[in-house]
Amino acid sequence: MDENNKPKKPIIYYYAVVMLILCLLNLFMLPQMRQAQIVKTTYDTFITEIDEDKIAEVEVQSNQILFKKTGDETVYRTGIMNDPGLTERLLEHKVKFSSEIVEQTSPWISLLVSWLFPILLATFLLRALMSRGSMGSGGSPFNLGKSNARVYKGSEQEIRFKDVAGEDEAKENLQEIVTYLHDPSKYKHIGATMPKGILLVGPPGTGKTMLAKAVAGESNVPFFSISGSEFVEMFVGMGASKVRDLFKNAKEKAPCIVFIDEIDAIGGKRNTGALSGANDEREQTLNQLLTEMDGFEGNSGVVILAATNRPESLDPALLRPGRFDRRVPVELPDLQGREEILRVHAKKVKTEKNIDYNVIARMASGASGAELANIVNEAALRAVRENRNVVSQKDLEESIEVVFAGYQKKNAILTDEEKLRVSYHEIGHALVAALQTDSAPVQKITIIPRTSGALGYTMQIEEGNHYLYTKEELENRIATLTGGRAAEEVKFGTISTGASNDIEQATKIARSMIAMYGMSDDFDMVAMATVNSRYLGGDATLACSDKTSAAIDARVIRLVRQQHAKARQLLEDHRDDLDRISRYLYEKETITGEEFMSILKEGNDMTVPAETAD
Ligand code: ADP
Repeated sequence: MDENNKPKKPIIYYYAVVMLILCLLNLFMLPQMRQAQIVKTTYDTFITEIDEDKIAEVEVQSNQILFKKTGDETVYRTGIMNDPGLTERLLEHKVKFSSEIVEQTSPWISLLVSWLFPILLATFLLRALMSRGSMGSGGSPFNLGKSNARVYKGSEQEIRFKDVAGEDEAKENLQEIVTYLHDPSKYKHIGATMPKGILLVGPPGTGKTMLAKAVAGESNVPFFSISGSEFVEMFVGMGASKVRDLFKNAKEKAPCIVFIDEIDAIGGKRNTGALSGANDEREQTLNQLLTEMDGFEGNSGVVILAATNRPESLDPALLRPGRFDRRVPVELPDLQGREEILRVHAKKVKTEKNIDYNVIARMASGASGAELANIVNEAALRAVRENRNVVSQKDLEESIEVVFAGYQKKNAILTDEEKLRVSYHEIGHALVAALQTDSAPVQKITIIPRTSGALGYTMQIEEGNHYLYTKEELENRIATLTGGRAAEEVKFGTISTGASNDIEQATKIARSMIAMYGMSDDFDMVAMATVNSRYLGGDATLACSDKTSAAIDARVIRLVRQQHAKARQLLEDHRDDLDRISRYLYEKETITGEEFMSILKEGNDMTVPAETAD
């Protein structure tokens, strides 16, 4: 533990080290490097070689004699001796010689070269280093320890609640803060204290930052915004002083809002006993944050909003009363919310008049606000690419696929056999979905490869909002997911790698059904898994004995196998439909859900001859 509490080295320390290295280099290394190519000899060798006429040139310096031999470029060196006859000897043997010309360099210049220059160089290097370290937070070397929070004044704050579409519960919850910030004295008067900290929790891109800005915008107060990761910078020991600085500024500007994005970067659970330096830094920052929060009064007019998508990873100390004791969930938008968000963003671009946002919202089920904003932008980009000046319904529909599945991969050339296999695979999914009454109808099926790597794509449409799924519905979803592979088996008798994503999803559903939703008779209502990051994909960890864990695996396999067999049976029973529609998709490459349904019905109504079938 003690190791964690070593005092941090101040910045001047690093500065001094760099300086010292440079000065030592200047004093010792450079002259030595110059001397390195000179060969040392004795004085008597020098004299003998003069006498033997081996020496071509001599330079007598104040502390040494340098000389070159005839036909040799090496410079030799020997010491000075009290030898009055040397000049005569040199003249006698016709050796060229000179004495050193000492140029009087001004002491100022030598001071400049030996001291000032290294200092300037060191300063320059240090500056470059530090501005890299604080990149993104707009810091300069002289701002170390300053919070770097971006400050927005109330009037510059464009965002209002009306700009945040949907999220009505969150807005309602935050409205109270706005009322408080308008007139804190009203609350003081009655003796009510506002929560000091409010935690916005939800998946990424659901508008948490936007909501925090909207609170500031509505209350017309300054807004300090900083991201958790910006606290922990290159130089250790700065995080805590940044927190201190942030709160000092905020208190001066109260009433105001401090927004800490990604608070999990500093507010994660502190580990006890670990000896990691990086964690130590984070902990000091967190401790400072806790101290600051405890230090100011509830009615000081500073409201702290923080956002996270990993609430379960936060240190419990942060969530104690008097700190972040209010939690505002900011969930993924429902159908109506998605439609509203699309409308808000569509206002920023020129669109055709008759756009049906409800259809787009249905197609984009599960999309976050940020993804919906992206869909509208992609649609506008597509319109420009195609030289149109308004966004059409088709642009929006195509951009949903771009956002979820990547761009069409123009140069991916599938062989005819691959194309046929992908057609069967996709129709397998769609047909199994359509044949099971509870499955959502298909919106669109395509076999145009996407940059995301998907070779085909079946877009299911969501009818209204769905909050609960029955066991049968989940089983049907697994069957639908296995439908692609089942179709390949029925048609080709062989299987391919195309089902990896289906396998992953089917397994995830099956595992949740058994370990989390109590949908297996053997385990009844016993929870055997805990969800880790609900907002980030919801990975679960098994919390049971090895034996139970093996039993869960066995049941997961059984469940998926049953549904796979069911899907295969359905497709075998409807082999005509499978062949006919797959052929149609093979020819057309993209078909809509309506086309799919009408071909399916056609076949069932008049039992079309199997000539179109392969
Ligand atoms: P978060 O902080 O939850 O990750 P942001 O607030 O940064 O998400 O949202 C990113 C972008 O997504 C916003 O700039 C906005 O364009 C869009 N967005 C998200 N939610 C909404 C919403 N409810 N209404 C309008 N736009 C939204």
